[in-house]
Amino acid sequence: MPTFGNAQLKLLERLCNVIAISGDESEVRKIVLEEVKPYADEVRVDALGSVLATRQGRGRKRTRVMLDAHMDEVGFMIVDDDGDGLYRFEAIGGIDVRHLVGKQVFVGKERTPGVIGAKPIHLMSGDEYTRKVPLDALRIDVGLSGKAKIGDRAGFATRFRRVGPSILSKSIDDRIGVATLIELFRNLPPNIDLCAAFSVQEEIGLRGAKVAAQYFNPDMAIAVDSTPANDLPLHDGSENMSYNTKLGLGPAVYIADGSTLHDPRLVRFLRETAEAEKIPYQIRQPGGGGTDSGAIQRSLAGIPTVSVSVPHRYTHSPVSIARVDDWKHTINLLHAALKRITPELLILR
Ligand SMILES: [Zn+2]
Repeated sequence: MPTFGNAQLKLLERLCNVIAISGDESEVRKIVLEEVKPYADEVRVDALGSVLATRQGRGRKRTRVMLDAHMDEVGFMIVDDDGDGLYRFEAIGGIDVRHLVGKQVFVGKERTPGVIGAKPIHLMSGDEYTRKVPLDALRIDVGLSGKAKIGDRAGFATRFRRVGPSILSKSIDDRIGVATLIELFRNLPPNIDLCAAFSVQEEIGLRGAKVAAQYFNPDMAIAVDSTPANDLPLHDGSENMSYNTKLGLGPAVYIADGSTLHDPRLVRFLRETAEAEKIPYQIRQPGGGGTDSGAIQRSLAGIPTVSVSVPHRYTHSPVSIARVDDWKHTINLLHAALKRITPELLILR
């Protein structure tokens, strides 16, 4: 098993504290390049900006395995300057507008601090109390004219925190996947050639992963991401049956989501691996949502693909919560799986 402790949590903290809104992933890319270069046989940054790193195993019958994690996070783009330090913005990726009022953001490369402002409660009337504020009624206020430009990205200004068994941070989706790939890249078993795709633009349509899969042309692929845990008690006291995943039950293995029927050989293989190695895991409830697997599986002539995610609560919001142990077990499950891969795994039965 790869070592797991403070060094891994520090790496995750660095990755979570930088901002990388889809299409502008440079801050994460810088860290990834630094971390993988010493171990890689080949590293390139493709035309879209994904980092594609290859490390060869030393065994005789090696399987070419693509691991994917997306570098980008949801956020905002400045689209108009109203003067007086006020900027109109659009959401990049799936954002619930109800999360936004009163939140602090950083704008642009200079990380100009700002706040997402709206009408104060004292001055509201009628249905303004209950109605969802439309996005175009909100502004990012940086307090001073000329501090932002149209096209600048803005992201949540949340700092990573470790609290007992938990991690509180923005963009756990999918920096926790990026950190996982870096750890697996460092601890490569000899029976595989690892093709690591740190991909761009997942949040706006799985774009980087598609190109990465075509470049690597792997024998199989695993998308490593973070999936919502909708595991809070229900307000009426009835049992919550649609939790997607729950915190604390270990890595979530996908069977089916909105864009992928995951390769049944690989789903079975991950379950068998977890059971043989006594690593806790859960099956993500089949349903909507999706990961880069949706693009990878349908690339080229089709690629056997599965998804594994670390569960987290409050996805795509200014602060999400995940459990340290779920992450540790995810790294361990993937490492154990990589070690057990043989070319026979992919023979159709
Ligand atoms: Zn994600």
